[in-house]
Amino acid sequence: MSTAQTNLDSRLLEAKAKLRDVFGYDAFRFGQEAIIRAVLERRDTLALLPTGAGKSLCYQLPALMLPGVTLVISPLVSLMDDQVAAMQELGIAAGAVHSGMQPADVMDTFRKLHRGDLKVLYLAPERLMQPNFRERLAELDVALIAVDEAHCISQWGHDFRPEYGQLGQIREWLPGTPVLALTATADAVTRHDIIERLHLHDPELVQGSFDRANIRYVVQEKFKPREQVLAYVKRQKGASGIIYCGSRKKTEDIAESLMRNGVRAAPYHAGLPHEDRHSTLKGFLRDDIDVVVATVAFGMGINKPNVRFVMHFDIPRSVEAYYQETGRAGRDGAPAEAIMLYEPNDSNWIWRLLDEQDDTPRGRVEKQKFSAMTSFAEAQTCRRIVLLNYFNEYRERACGNCDLCLQPPRSYDGTVDAQKALSCVYRTGQQFGLHYVVEVLRGAQTQKIKQYRHDELSTWGIGKDNSQEHWTSVLRQLIHRGLLIQDIRRHSALVLTEEARPVLRGDIALTLAVPRVQTVAQTDTVTD
Ligand code: ADP
Ligand code: ZN
Repeated sequence: MSTAQTNLDSRLLEAKAKLRDVFGYDAFRFGQEAIIRAVLERRDTLALLPTGAGKSLCYQLPALMLPGVTLVISPLVSLMDDQVAAMQELGIAAGAVHSGMQPADVMDTFRKLHRGDLKVLYLAPERLMQPNFRERLAELDVALIAVDEAHCISQWGHDFRPEYGQLGQIREWLPGTPVLALTATADAVTRHDIIERLHLHDPELVQGSFDRANIRYVVQEKFKPREQVLAYVKRQKGASGIIYCGSRKKTEDIAESLMRNGVRAAPYHAGLPHEDRHSTLKGFLRDDIDVVVATVAFGMGINKPNVRFVMHFDIPRSVEAYYQETGRAGRDGAPAEAIMLYEPNDSNWIWRLLDEQDDTPRGRVEKQKFSAMTSFAEAQTCRRIVLLNYFNEYRERACGNCDLCLQPPRSYDGTVDAQKALSCVYRTGQQFGLHYVVEVLRGAQTQKIKQYRHDELSTWGIGKDNSQEHWTSVLRQLIHRGLLIQDIRRHSALVLTEEARPVLRGDIALTLAVPRVQTVAQTDTVTD
């Protein structure tokens, strides 16, 4: 055995001792040992591990073993102080430099740094690019550069940060220092981009499994979203959860409606005062707040083990974002649920936005990413297979823990339903939206229906034996199949297309899907 090998073996033993004595863990988790070994060998390393896998340890531990200081580049300024505090608690000399600090504290950190008193220094990327910092670097003994959330460097990623763009330069300034790039985003393009932009030399690639087996994936058709949210949250009986919404306004509305109904909820978005956000986060971590209703601003780096559900009120723009957000559920390994409310019309709206964008490469990537996301939402086979395939992790066996595995989609001969719905659209003059048509079908007696005398139509009430959800789903499917269009210039009024004729005439039959409004959770995991 070569001396280098013996040497490495003894260093790995030392690493295991530190794992136990400093961090208090018995064993490495998947991927950690391989990454730490590569780092100790001073190799460039790209670590692709899902959220919660324990990436921080992969640079914190080697930092203790290598001479000099380990720089940790992280975009998460708000979390740096917490991480530094956590490390100091373990007895590790750590510090941070970021924009939220007092100048005196920055000076103090730099003083320690130059005295060689710091093992780990957290840095915001923009700090690194300041000219005087480069001079500082030259005087330091830098053991390792860890780039956390490394996908932020990729323009093709779902979370590009311009301040990460220049990061590659650090390579020229510190040519001999190895780089450890860490991310929970593993699609091939992003991976390639990270390697290229950080100039990783022949990097060791460590990829963990992206499967979060304890998370149940569920997609529910969105029909009365606010009521669905409330009913769902009520059934969770005070369990910890996050609800992601597409707009700030919605987070406030929904949080308010939950609070009115006795749920300990709070909104969270970037437009709220810093103190409010901070106290919401703290309250959530302490279990004083059960449900945070948030925009994407809430999350990166949130490390709360017992989040039992993550709900998407709106469809995210990419599978990566979906995966990252849902990944905040069930970090303790206990069963958790990721539930998304899906309305095909929401995607139409996003498609229109994306279409308005210039035909830039970025715009094309966004379309591609969103297209993959809608495929996930509309999947007909095991969602976990779809999800893992996206991350190049191929599976064949269905998972048994997603809505499609637990309740395979059913279809029925929907010809008669389609005829009822289409003729109702026709009889009301093709001037009304989906909601109104459903009301007429179900024989509602609203002011508006009386005013238009639609209660005198032959189609009024022909669908009264089926629920509102049922008809909403039927109409949506007819839109999806191109038998109806929604005229956006006239308040989304439903209009028949040529395709509707043969169905109305009874020339062809139409198979429809039974609406997926009843979630698996409702019937399966929830006890009342
Ligand atoms: P990531 O950055 O990959 O999302 P973190 O570094 O925040 O994950 O780690 C997630 C959690 O796992 C933390 O609470 C951390 O203390 C814990 N952890 C990390 N490594 C181990 C280990 N080897 N054994 C047990 N727990 C670990
Ligand atoms: Zn499945």
